[in-house]
Amino acid sequence: MKILVTGGAGFIGANLCRTLSATPDLDVIALDDLSTGSRSNLEGVDASLVVGSILDREVMDAVTAGVSSIVHLAAIPSVPRSLVDPVASHAANATGSLEVLEAARRVGAHVVLASSSSVYGRNPALPKHEELRCEPMSPYAVSKLAAESYALAYAACYDLEVLPFRFFNVFGPLQAAGHAYAAVVPAFVDAALAGRPLPVHGDGSQSRDFTYVETVTRVLSEAALRRVSSPDPVNLAFGSRTTLMEVIDLLGDILGRRLDVEHLPTRAGDVPHSQADHGRLRALFPELGPVPLRTGLERTVAWF
Ligand code: NAD
Repeated sequence: MKILVTGGAGFIGANLCRTLSATPDLDVIALDDLSTGSRSNLEGVDASLVVGSILDREVMDAVTAGVSSIVHLAAIPSVPRSLVDPVASHAANATGSLEVLEAARRVGAHVVLASSSSVYGRNPALPKHEELRCEPMSPYAVSKLAAESYALAYAACYDLEVLPFRFFNVFGPLQAAGHAYAAVVPAFVDAALAGRPLPVHGDGSQSRDFTYVETVTRVLSEAALRRVSSPDPVNLAFGSRTTLMEVIDLLGDILGRRLDVEHLPTRAGDVPHSQADHGRLRALFPELGPVPLRTGLERTVAWF
């Protein structure tokens, strides 16, 4: 059996390739253009890396030959980057996903696709149930909503087996820090370990459903190996909500010292609160549960 992971040299992709490579008799192919991912993320992982773009049809045909399932993670995965260059965000995330679905259609592969909780946008309801109205607040969120909508349309029109997941705030080893678009957990850990104040946009009361990367890769791996599909999007998080200030307190506790905070202006496109309804996820994967937040943070600090 062969599985393709697009964005396989990125944060979630390389962690997934590591999880999958423990499965006997499975060929794992990672496709990545190395725009934000890196070869070093796959060091020691039994996966073949193909350097190329999901937007290149020849490349897609080569890497999908004989593939049973595609886990599509390749994207420009950042709200602030999409504000700077919405067209690039659309090309990679929406058009790129369409090319992946086209390639899957040519070979009859099953597709697991990474959408995002950002599609709920300014809809204030909590927890976020998949049937809530989507009100995207950024070009990134729109591109993700387009990608999952294409996947569901391909299921309806061409009987393609698809599973669009809405990821929440995923964190853990291999997640890049130290750049302008860093996600909140690596930005906090990086600052804390360097003795700098932790950068908090706004007052820190924003809350997120933080999900440790191994929780995500276990679900993705099961989904790909068993070709699990769904006629609707599925939240990939387990329904716990933690504020940024609570994450800082937990990190301080793990590191054994009080951490200073630097409050910065709020960012356009950021949603105030996020928490998943996990009913659909539990129904599809009743045997899987989350790694607790504190354990995930401890492992992330240890990796840095
Ligand atoms: P990442 O940037 O580490 O991984 C994305 C990978 O895609 C990178 O390795 C990049 O080089 C590659 N890539 C970009 N454009 C490409 C192209 N045209 N062709 C081939 N490869 C390309 O980000 P991540 O956090 O691992 O995100 C993985 C997926 O999960 C993305 O689709 C993202 O939108 C989604 N997601 C992530 C989170 C999160 O909290 N990390 C939350 C919601 C959704």
